[in-house]
Amino acid sequence: MNLHTLTAHALQELLLNRQVSPADIYRAVRGQIDLVEKKVGAFARLAPAPDFNGLADKPFPIPVALKDNLCISGQETTCASKILTGFRPPYDATVVRRLKEAGALIIGQANMDEFAFGSSTESSCYGPTKNPWDLTRVPGGSSGGAAAAVAAHETIWALGSDTGGSIRQPAAFCGIVGLKPTYGRVSRYGLIAFASSLDQIGPMTKDVTDAARLLKIIAGHDPLDATSVDLPVPDYTQSLRCEVKGMRVGIPREYFIAGLDPEVAEAVTAAIAVLKKQGAQIVDISLPHTPYAVATYYIVATAEASSNLGRYDGVRYGRRVRPPEIRQTPIIDMFEETRDQGFGEEAKRRIMLGTYALSAGYYDAYYLKGLKVRTLIKRDFDQAFQTVDAIVTPTAPTTAFKIGEKTADPLSMYLSDIYTISANLSGIPAISLPCGFSQAGLPIGLQIMAKPFAEETLFRVAFAYEQATGWHKRVCQI
Ligand code: GLN
Repeated sequence: MNLHTLTAHALQELLLNRQVSPADIYRAVRGQIDLVEKKVGAFARLAPAPDFNGLADKPFPIPVALKDNLCISGQETTCASKILTGFRPPYDATVVRRLKEAGALIIGQANMDEFAFGSSTESSCYGPTKNPWDLTRVPGGSSGGAAAAVAAHETIWALGSDTGGSIRQPAAFCGIVGLKPTYGRVSRYGLIAFASSLDQIGPMTKDVTDAARLLKIIAGHDPLDATSVDLPVPDYTQSLRCEVKGMRVGIPREYFIAGLDPEVAEAVTAAIAVLKKQGAQIVDISLPHTPYAVATYYIVATAEASSNLGRYDGVRYGRRVRPPEIRQTPIIDMFEETRDQGFGEEAKRRIMLGTYALSAGYYDAYYLKGLKVRTLIKRDFDQAFQTVDAIVTPTAPTTAFKIGEKTADPLSMYLSDIYTISANLSGIPAISLPCGFSQAGLPIGLQIMAKPFAEETLFRVAFAYEQATGWHKRVCQI
């Protein structure tokens, strides 16, 4: 049996019946890593072998990959940035602690865009990750390593983070399921911050059932994250029932515009027809402020990032670079040298953009304006959800693009986030799941969005669609 190609829920059955052991599963996954990791480059680093003692009685002794921005106590964690080289967090992120308590086998830390800035995993200090469906293409980003690892069966499931689409877009590009929970659903304690009003941690899995199970493990209130909300966590597997009859599903006309690849449009239109056939009521809706979402996001996100990255000064975390000569004062020279050598190009670009947007004289024109437009975008969704239960759109305007295709033009890279960032700006949950393949054999993603804390609605619609079509069963040959 190829244990590494199975889902977590299938493996859990085998574990319960004592047909396999956690060590068997771990060995199968490590074997696959030995076979394909050289080609894919999904990991920033692999984890030391776990202790299997007592694991058989834990609920989820399943291999998991963690994006390299989730703190693991005592293990180097760098956000794929040279500036954090050698940083060993003194504590576990809350999601990591919860996974460890469930018996998880941490297999490694997944590659990512530096500090999660990007949509292609090309800005990592470890070099790019390749898309397992076509090694000349990007896996998406910024959680591209996690998505590629799941697709290439180098892990059973993974955790990513999503500030503007970083779970959903790589999930779409790699043909897997990715969920960004509601802002406040999952604790970010121990997630290295990018933009604190947008960041969420979420599951990246082979199917919808696994996403429901993994979310259940990591969700819930945490006194260590003041933004985590104290609401009970439902048993999400109860929502996996193939029932969409009578549900109202909105299709926002602003999402079907020039720039949307015809093959993606076709697959998404066919997916909407499937939901209709299952009894969902399809409603044409408008989210009128959609055209402002990319600009608003890149003001708000860079402003917060420039502030969050202020702490990397060579004193408190990771790398310190001694200046070759004294130019101003030794400490200022050390800050400058460390930041100059430690941050990559995209991180520097974002620090400059964000600092500018926040600077005296420009604050009102950019940052404050951005916050106001963010409110308008959120209101579009509030209004839409008065008449519909869920909103269905493409996850990304295209399939995976070529490595190097967009690196010279940051704006074209930013525009690839057009369908995902509104969910972050409004705090709502959104899932991406496979809805077909292009002629070239590249996966296409379907995005479903719902009201705050209505993850159950996402699972209901996604599961009904998945079971009716079965795209998730296509196995990537690598
Ligand atoms: N691609 C977006 C960006 O570059 C989103 C990144 C993310 O969600 N972390 O900011």
